[in-house]
Amino acid sequence: CGIVGYVGGQSALDVVLAGLRRLEYRGYDSAGVAVLADGGLAAAKKAGKLANLEKELSDRPLPSGPTGIGHTRWATHGAPNDANAHPHLDNPGRVAVVHNGIIENFAELRAELTERGHALGSETDTEVVAHLLSESFSSCGDLAESMRQVCLRLEGAFTLVAVHADEPDVVVGARRNSPLVVGLGDGESFLASDVAAFIEHTREAVELGQDQVVELRRDGVTVTGFDGAPADVRPYHVDWDASA
Ligand code: GLU
Repeated sequence: CGIVGYVGGQSALDVVLAGLRRLEYRGYDSAGVAVLADGGLAAAKKAGKLANLEKELSDRPLPSGPTGIGHTRWATHGAPNDANAHPHLDNPGRVAVVHNGIIENFAELRAELTERGHALGSETDTEVVAHLLSESFSSCGDLAESMRQVCLRLEGAFTLVAVHADEPDVVVGARRNSPLVVGLGDGESFLASDVAAFIEHTREAVELGQDQVVELRRDGVTVTGFDGAPADVRPYHVDWDASA
């Protein structure tokens, strides 16, 4: 239901959690985060309110790092429990993905992945994306390119945001029939389903177009179509009052 991504000089976990709080008004049934730190990926997720996730994080703290993603879920496929909460990871736990929307051909993709030896642990339509990204990354070594390849295989409506432990300074996002906005800061960049998530940090925003992939780094963003063609990035200034 809500998505936040961050790369920059602040603690990604703090920025992502604050962003998720700004999106709480939309309603949700579970929440989760993933951060890249010390060459690895660490994640936490919990059914229920953000307070449950925060309790989990105080019992089992995640390492602090500059790159992270977060999600509040409104379940469509699979009960609202801890296992179905996002982020979803691949098996070695090197890639994490969060998703808003519905992947309509997930059953077919799931059968295909199972056939190739992947063990899927949730009932969501989302988890297939983590495994597909992982496979694609093993052959091309580039998360944005992996996202483009995977998106071409997906049917439905989706906003996807992913990180990979082997590209610790990058967050990648994609969208089809579902919103995704980029926030351009000074030495830091944001991604969210709604500008409300990052408006306290920056008002320079870029609306991602239909069937586009964004690669987010501290010093800026690169946008392409799912076909790899470079897209124009036209920042605009968000001038609505965040306190309203
Ligand atoms: N279809 C996904 C799920 O059920 C995402 C739901 C959402 O948009 O939060 O996990």
